[in-house]
Amino acid sequence: MAKLDYDYIIIGAGAAGLLLADALGKDSFFYQKNILILDKDAKKNNDRTWCLREKGKGQFDNLLYKTWNHIAFKGKDFSESYAIAPYTYKMIRGIDFYEHYFEKFKDYSNILFQQEAVKEIEESMGTVVVHTDGNQYICKKVFDSRFNYDMIEADGPYPVIQQHFIGWIIKTPKPVFEVDQATYMDFSIPQKDNTRFMYVLPFQKDTALVEYTLFSEDSIIKNRI
Ligand SMILES: Cc1cc2nc3c(=O)[nH]c(=O)nc-3n(C[C@H](O)[C@H](O)[C@H](O)COP(=O)(O)OP(=O)(O)OC[C@H]3O[C@@H](n4cnc5c(N)ncnc54)[C@H](O)[C@@H]3O)c2cc1C
Repeated sequence: MAKLDYDYIIIGAGAAGLLLADALGKDSFFYQKNILILDKDAKKNNDRTWCLREKGKGQFDNLLYKTWNHIAFKGKDFSESYAIAPYTYKMIRGIDFYEHYFEKFKDYSNILFQQEAVKEIEESMGTVVVHTDGNQYICKKVFDSRFNYDMIEADGPYPVIQQHFIGWIIKTPKPVFEVDQATYMDFSIPQKDNTRFMYVLPFQKDTALVEYTLFSEDSIIKNRI
């Protein structure tokens, strides 16, 4: 067997890669294993926000950016707000999540992060060679969290329908938002023959994340709707 550079390589430092690395980092079985995380991105931007409904306390509560106790739903002829107790609607910003885990990994001497784009993965004789744009690494196992569109497209005769989002953080001249109420699915907007809705997630009375989402075969960037 060729000399190993790492025991495990994790491709992608998104939610999946970072949670896996954390699970390995705190498990005594893996203390002696060398782990490399590779991502083409430095993960220093707030590239997304996650929102979830949860009853009571949750494992990511230390990372919450905002919570809401009321949710509004809207349709063409419908508009209602509901108190959602015992649930809370919780928001985590990607950047807070990434920073938290990179900080935590400073305590795991066996985990290293490198910003490199993976080009190719080769398996042979019980080892895996990961080729990046500048290096190659030999390891025992690779955990690859990159999304593989080709696999899904090859999976059947039907088009792949994607749910995609575009959002803006807006500031209004006057206070207009109810800070404890998230507008969750506002279907009152034109549907244009598919399914579209808005989110309004207020941070303050005059500041909110406004998101538009729709399901369609082509991405929102291509459509420029
Ligand atoms: C705007 C937005 C809002 C969302 N909101 C929610 C939500 O509210 N609730 C929810 O549950 N889900 C939500 N999702 C979905 C959720 O973000 C994803 O399901 C989840 O973040 C995916 O995590 P992941 O680690 O699997 O993939 P990713 O986060 O996509 O991680 C993959 C990583 O691989 C890296 N990578 C890609 N190619 C290479 C390469 N060649 N070499 C090295 N690295 C590479 C990427 O840079 C990336 O960091 C949202 C997604 C988006 C985009």
